[in-house]
Amino acid sequence: MIVLKTRREIELLRDAGRISAEALMAAGEAVKPGVSTWEIDEIARKYILRQGAKPNFLHYNGFPGTACISVNEEVIHGIPSRRKILREGDIVSIDLGALYKGYHGDNAATFAVGRISDEAQRLIDTTRESLDIGLSKAVGGGRVGDIGAAVCEYCESRGYGVVRDYTGHGVGRDLHEDPPVPNYGTAGRGARLLPGMVIAVEPMINMGTHEVRTLADGWTVVTADGKYAAHFERTVAITDKACDILTPWTL
Ligand code: MG
Repeated sequence: MIVLKTRREIELLRDAGRISAEALMAAGEAVKPGVSTWEIDEIARKYILRQGAKPNFLHYNGFPGTACISVNEEVIHGIPSRRKILREGDIVSIDLGALYKGYHGDNAATFAVGRISDEAQRLIDTTRESLDIGLSKAVGGGRVGDIGAAVCEYCESRGYGVVRDYTGHGVGRDLHEDPPVPNYGTAGRGARLLPGMVIAVEPMINMGTHEVRTLADGWTVVTADGKYAAHFERTVAITDKACDILTPWTL
C-alpha cells in the first residue's frame, strides 16, 4: 500500500533526510587509505546520535552496523568491520539513514579511496549521473517505470550491468514502504507517481554482469563476476514539478 504524506510529514521527512545526508557526507570525508570500515561507521553513528536521531539500519533485520559499507565488488549491505581496511584504489559505497521524530531518511553514495583507475571513476560517474536521470523522471503524473527505464537505458548503453535483485522503495514511517522502485522497467508502466509520495531512488550499477550473490555472512551482496559496483541514492518527495530532494548531500 502506497502511503501519501501530508505537507507536515514531508517536513519531518526533510529533517530526517538532512540528518541522513549530513551523516553520509561526514562518513564520506573519513574515506581514505588505512581507515577501517568500522571507523567510518562510528563517525556516522555518532553524528546521527548527536542530532537526536537514531541510526535506522542498526539492528534492522539484525544488521550490525549504522551504515552498509560495501567495497569494490560488494554492491550493497557490506558489514562494517575493524578488519576491513580501505586501500588506495578501492571504491567504497556507504548507505545509511536516520530515524527522526518517527520518520526515516535513506541515502547512499560511492567514494574513491585515494587515486582510483579511470575505469572505476567512470563507473562512479555513470552511476551518479544515472541517479539524476532517474530523478528527472520522478514527477507527479508519471509512472514508476519511467524512472527505471531511464536509469537502465543510460547505464546499459554504456556497457554496465543494472542490478535487478534489489530496488529503491517508498520511505516514510517505515524505512521500506511501497512502491518498489526498480532500476529497470518500461516507461509508462508501474505505479502512478503522485504528489505526496516519498521514494528512495537508488541505482546499483555493476561494471560487468548485473548478476549478484550473497556472501555466507548472510548480508554482503557481491557482483557474480567480481567486478566493481557503485551505488547512489536519494530520498525524494514527488511534486507536480521536479522532485523535492529530501537528502541533500553534495559531493
Ligand atoms: Mg534504500
